[in-house]
Amino acid sequence: MDLKKCVRVIEDFPKEGISFKDITTLLKDGKALKYAIDQIVEDLKDKNIDIVVGPEARGFLVGTPVAYALEAGFVPVRKPGKLPGEVERFEYDLEYGSNILEIHKDAIKPGQRVAIVDDLLATGGTTEAAIKLIENLGGEVVSLQFLIELEDLNGKAKLEGYHINSLIKY
Ligand code: IMP
Repeated sequence: MDLKKCVRVIEDFPKEGISFKDITTLLKDGKALKYAIDQIVEDLKDKNIDIVVGPEARGFLVGTPVAYALEAGFVPVRKPGKLPGEVERFEYDLEYGSNILEIHKDAIKPGQRVAIVDDLLATGGTTEAAIKLIENLGGEVVSLQFLIELEDLNGKAKLEGYHINSLIKY
């Protein structure tokens, strides 16, 4: 299945010069959604994943069905002030702007095997922040999974040494 055909590209959103990859068109296509999730699950199924981490907000949409299929837990990484318990926080730069991400301190136990699942890899800043949060809690980041990778932004350079799988490349 050609998943790229299911992504809608919108120019100059949310700012001029950004070519936004809109995955809502993929999510609303039942066959494409199942195919995409199945591809990620296939890549992760022999990696003994305990926890899937999904960054807010689209990482929740992709990460939760992956966790369900793997019978792994799901842990959200969220924008500041959203998680009610004690948090670990990390600040990072984004393709557009900067951001802070948080994770519950008790969400991951030392030694647990973790996969990060998100909709899109751009500069790698978000994923790098999620890695830092997970590793600060003692988790082992085993794999990084994305629906989309923007290859020109070279996020991979920031994530050297980690296993990366992306389904659609621009
Ligand atoms: P990075 O931190 O630069 O790798 O940016 C990745 C994050 O920004 C992901 O969590 C995406 O949800 C979001 N993002 C950046 N560009 C796009 C886009 O074109 N479409 C959808 N999300 C994007």
